[in-house]
Amino acid sequence: MSSERIKNISVSPTMKIAAKAMMMKREKIDVVDLSVGEPDFPTPQNIKDAAKRAIDSNFTRYTLNNGIIELRQAIARKFKEDNQLDYDIDQIIVSNGAKQCILNVMLTLVDQGDEVIIPAPYWVSYPEMVNLAEGKPVILQTREENGFKLTPDLLQSSISASTKALILCSPSNPTGAVYSRSDLEALAEVIIAEDIWVIADEIYEKLVYDNFRFTSIATINPKLKEKTIVVNGVSKAYSMTGWRIGYAAGDRDIIEGSNKIQSHSTSNPSSISQYASLEALNGPQYEVSRMRTEFEKRRNYMLYKLSTIPGVSCTKPDGAFYVFPNISSFFGKERNGTMIRNSYGLAYYLLKEARVTVVPGAAFGSDNHIRISYATSMSNLEKGMDRIVKALADLKVPVKVKAIHLANTQTRIRKKVPVEAALNIEKRDALVAEAEAQLKYDHYFEWNANINGLIIQLRTNNRHLYDFWVENWYPAQLEADLEPHGIIYAVDGAVGREAYGFYNSETRTGILFNTDYYGSLRSLALAMVTDIGERLFDLHAVRGMTGDFQGLGFALIGPKGTKKNEVFFTLLQSDQVALHGTDLAFVRYGGGIAAADLPERKLYLMTHTSTLYERLIPLLERCKCENVVTSREECENHSCQYGEECILDKGYPFCFHASKDSAALIDPYWLGGMQKHVKRIDLRFVFILRNEPVGEIIRSLGAQEALQILENGVSRDSGSEPFYNPHLIIRTPERLTVQRRLFERLFQSVKCYLLNTGKATPEEIRNQIIHVMQKG
Ligand code: PMP
Repeated sequence: MSSERIKNISVSPTMKIAAKAMMMKREKIDVVDLSVGEPDFPTPQNIKDAAKRAIDSNFTRYTLNNGIIELRQAIARKFKEDNQLDYDIDQIIVSNGAKQCILNVMLTLVDQGDEVIIPAPYWVSYPEMVNLAEGKPVILQTREENGFKLTPDLLQSSISASTKALILCSPSNPTGAVYSRSDLEALAEVIIAEDIWVIADEIYEKLVYDNFRFTSIATINPKLKEKTIVVNGVSKAYSMTGWRIGYAAGDRDIIEGSNKIQSHSTSNPSSISQYASLEALNGPQYEVSRMRTEFEKRRNYMLYKLSTIPGVSCTKPDGAFYVFPNISSFFGKERNGTMIRNSYGLAYYLLKEARVTVVPGAAFGSDNHIRISYATSMSNLEKGMDRIVKALADLKVPVKVKAIHLANTQTRIRKKVPVEAALNIEKRDALVAEAEAQLKYDHYFEWNANINGLIIQLRTNNRHLYDFWVENWYPAQLEADLEPHGIIYAVDGAVGREAYGFYNSETRTGILFNTDYYGSLRSLALAMVTDIGERLFDLHAVRGMTGDFQGLGFALIGPKGTKKNEVFFTLLQSDQVALHGTDLAFVRYGGGIAAADLPERKLYLMTHTSTLYERLIPLLERCKCENVVTSREECENHSCQYGEECILDKGYPFCFHASKDSAALIDPYWLGGMQKHVKRIDLRFVFILRNEPVGEIIRSLGAQEALQILENGVSRDSGSEPFYNPHLIIRTPERLTVQRRLFERLFQSVKCYLLNTGKATPEEIRNQIIHVMQKG
């Protein structure tokens, strides 16, 4: 029955939740509405009075279709004074809200099949308006770490021969992102080069915070102004949503086209509203700044409150009246058997359990988020947020998963124990005899690990060490006469011994006494593989955090205190970057290639890194963990982001960032499967990290200079640390010469850079790293 056109248009997907909220309100249930899209203030008195005067003066008839001349003059003056933009009044049209302006422009500009680029998260009506005009919405996912702003690269990559226009909403509904002048200048280059149109939705112009200077994209340069239709209105700035007045300005033909469409649909917007808007624009403006200040206060409250909720992160919005927190860490959690699977589920749960309405991010094309509006009173916000906090804390990891999580929470010894590596043969024999005597047959565990082709056998009486050992490595093949390349005795509870380790390189034997800390065992195993592998197979152990950027392998090498973790996990947030390893990679050389392998089946990761890479949080909860803090007394994190709002106090069973010593064995494939993790990389780039207060962020390093830096390696904690490799425990001059030779080979296959992380943010550093890797 209905037209094809209407079949392609969907009703607002948020309707179901809105309908449920409405029913609850009707049943007199006290629902806090944080889904609203309009200011809660009354329209200022002077504007209401102007409307009354218009009625009394009988300005109640049709007006010019495109709006009364005085109002268009006032709009032209507004553009000139606020935005330094010159428009004649016949370049301006007044419509029934900014919404009608955008639809008019869309119908004027877009032919069937024309593509219109819409950065997501987007205002819900944009794609449907493009559909109505029979165009094709091209949705571009912006990234949270870019503040949800479209980047020139992303824009460029999405332009095709059919691209007609870009819709740019700044400040944005729903994210609150505002484009700065330099953001816009960068976009302008692409827009002008590609000669596309811009529909600039600036309806939230007046609502920007922290002294942010709003810039209209049309002001970037005259060429861009010709291709931009600026849309604005009185709804948000003057709290006049019900009056339905918006306006558009730009190219004469497009404004004339809009005029034609409007003349056959609604004709002029309400005459009374036009006179009210005239007063809004020409009258005193202090109400605007009063409302803006109040919104800023509320935004700050909302950001503070969100920052106290475990598992929620929120990019700071610079404008509009919404916050757009990431709530994806709650997916997979449940309450009373109902599992949260997406943003709809969470919004529905908040309505049911907390009696608060929010809008699911999926409605805006971003399912990891929800939109919370702060266009409501402070007391409502407080009430609503308190309810949200409580309801989110009630969501729990399902019991099935919980059964295996956090096995072995705490160890007696939490720090790595020292290892004496210069052990002579006699002493080694005596220690082995002592160890073997203590390994009772009825409490003995043994397992052969295959660590990058080397077989290391663990012999222990400690169940926890055995557990982690088996989980950490690939098993060695089951061949009857398999001789291990190395053996580790880990004896706990040895009488008369300190927590201490020994290694004899000649017999490839490691001995650990009286530690139940897996970090020590793993470290000794890697040290042994470094030593044995180098001697037997010319295997080169490189200490660093390693990853893959579109087939190009890279390593970040540096001592503690150089923000290696921050930079690495920021890099990992890019779709183009996959994780390789976070500690030690084993490199083999041949055919001009440096192939680096990761020997571990599960990564041993310090859990506090989850503050740098929030995707880890839900994953850690299913890992085998060590030393995870379970009560506030054990907390060692004095700069905790939660401050007084300690999650342990709130009934959380554990905290992943309360200690630097808590670790988890995590399957790297959980991060995103093969897209996000590779086991072997073709190493092409080495970045050596420094943290200095001055100097350029990145510079190319010659092989000799790089070698010198690595050889002189000095670590803040442990003093001299050649090649920044704590697993290099045999440090005789001969062995260091071998390392030098291996690094010389490495530098024949890779480009090397010195990164100074002292001055720049991890994002800036990431951009620089990606830039040099892109150049190849
Ligand atoms: N653009 C955006 C981004 C909006 O959020 C809204 C209102 N929700 C509009 C346009 C429409 O405003 P008006 O009331 O002027 O139609």
